[in-house]
Amino acid sequence: MGGFRQELVAVFGKPVDENPTQAMIEAAFAAAGLDWRYLTIEVEPDALGDAVRGARAMGFRGFNCTIPHKVAVVEHLDRLSQPAALIGAVNCVVREGDELVGENTDGAGFLAAARRRRDPAGMHVVLLGAGGAARAIGVELALAGVASMTVVNRSAERGRELGAVLDPHVDDARVVELDVGYTVPAGTDLVVNATSIGLYPDVDARVPLDLTEVAGRALIADVVPNPPETRFLREAAAAGCETLDGLEMLVEQGRIGFELWTGVEPDTAAMRSALQLAFADSS
Ligand code: NDP
Repeated sequence: MGGFRQELVAVFGKPVDENPTQAMIEAAFAAAGLDWRYLTIEVEPDALGDAVRGARAMGFRGFNCTIPHKVAVVEHLDRLSQPAALIGAVNCVVREGDELVGENTDGAGFLAAARRRRDPAGMHVVLLGAGGAARAIGVELALAGVASMTVVNRSAERGRELGAVLDPHVDDARVVELDVGYTVPAGTDLVVNATSIGLYPDVDARVPLDLTEVAGRALIADVVPNPPETRFLREAAAAGCETLDGLEMLVEQGRIGFELWTGVEPDTAAMRSALQLAFADSS
């Protein structure tokens, strides 16, 4: 260390004012003794190309992308990781030499958290949702060798699109159009709510999955990070199921990005408490 120049990373988004990633990543910089800065930057959609060129010009070590830039950023990068290419979206860009490489850490973060509980290889999975988070999780689970995946989604068209992405990588990929509800079949090992149902402030909203047939057996996961203990996970725990919350997934995707940028393993406990504090301040 030395001198006055810091290494820079950032998040580009719009809206971005409420994005809590800076609190999480800067807590990890502090814990690791790194003199880096994480900037929260509002970037208009039509200025994204200029923002990426600016990041190159100013030697940023990388940046996160959030709504609405995750897909649009792809054309401004030099190459993509295999999962990011399959997902078709990038949430984390890493500078490697002169190149900007697009990664997707959303699915990888979920997978890392899931692996801490059970190995996904050979699992039968039910995935609720077909948006950005569901695509990222679905692709990573497929690459991790799940035996079957049933995508349940309200919009049939979006569900079919994700089914088509997964089909070449999963022996048994199915798509179900969500009507009023879906009973998760016996034999399912992992159930994921990858929709925003239950996200603050709609904390009483009900995830339309019936877990009766997998009670006491399946691992139940929720992507919603705030609040981490969602109604869905509370009901799953009451049915005797092991659970995985969206806050852990968020910390894991942050950990992976941090390691890609810095080469240093971050203090994930510090990251989790920083996020909890940030959510408490904004809730
Ligand atoms: P998208 O807008 O891309 O997708 C939303 C998905 O939720 C769609 O499948 C949509 O269905 C479905 N959905 C939304 N409301 C309902 C409803 N009332 N009933 C049925 N289905 C519904 O959003 P994202 O995938 O980007 O984000 C989804 C959630 O994931 C958010 O809560 C976000 O905070 C969380 N997330 C968490 C991360 C983490 O690290 N923990 C990382 C990234 C996201 P349809 O296609 O029919 O519209």
